[in-house]
Amino acid sequence: KDPDFVLRIDNLESFYGPIMAIRGVSLVVPEGRVVTVLGANGAGKSTLMKTISGVMDPQKGKIIYRGTNITGMAPERVVRAGIVHIPEGREVFPLLSLEDNLAMGAFTRSDGAKAVQEDLDMVFSYFPILKDRRHQQAGTLSGGQQQMLAIARGLMSRPKLMLLDEPSLGLSPLLVREILTIIRRLNREQGVTMLLVEQNAKAALDVADYGYVMDLGRIVIDGTAETLKRSKDVQEFYLGVQ
Ligand code: ATP
Repeated sequence: KDPDFVLRIDNLESFYGPIMAIRGVSLVVPEGRVVTVLGANGAGKSTLMKTISGVMDPQKGKIIYRGTNITGMAPERVVRAGIVHIPEGREVFPLLSLEDNLAMGAFTRSDGAKAVQEDLDMVFSYFPILKDRRHQQAGTLSGGQQQMLAIARGLMSRPKLMLLDEPSLGLSPLLVREILTIIRRLNREQGVTMLLVEQNAKAALDVADYGYVMDLGRIVIDGTAETLKRSKDVQEFYLGVQ
């Protein structure tokens, strides 16, 4: 049992055919925290997220979620267990109304319409703009609103752990700040533990408690957000921050 960790990953390896994209990654995500995985394009961050959520099977290593080995578990069972993956690129259903997108997020639940309605109200309190537009087709929303919808839809499954893959991608600095602030509030107020993948290191370290830096499929450095923010090496060599 791992009482303190929502997620513990041991020596994980994942391949695309002959290409080894994850080369022995180990990390922990403590209960109630925001942990970020940073790194350049192609470092293996998305592959790591896909392996945790069951979309990809690892060749080696273990994924332990709240004391249970979930390595190789089917994606739907992973969602039922309390992990939701918000993939890069949002992937909302463009022709469905915003409300129907949110209903899809609740499809694994069996706790009744009342509980789902309560969570819908909760989600709308964090994203009031989505409430105003709930009858609109999701494809007509702006990029930032689609990102909000993707997060909101994920919340409708009542996750204990949310995997967020580059929520800031393609958004203006103002929107990046707004979305990351909401992610932090959801963590604090709703108790959702967050594993946040970002290329935007500066923004991610502003909301995270702890960070891991990936390069070429490996974790090259890790530390508290404060430490990583202050480290010149981390900034220059791995994060490309000036
Ligand atoms: P990005 O920010 O672009 O998502 P990333 O850090 O998430 O980057 P991954 O997408 O996990 O990186 O990619 C890790 C490695 O695996 C890269 O070398 C990439 O070229 C390779 N890769 C990713 N997807 C595939 C695929 N479908 N088939 C083959 N190789 C892939």
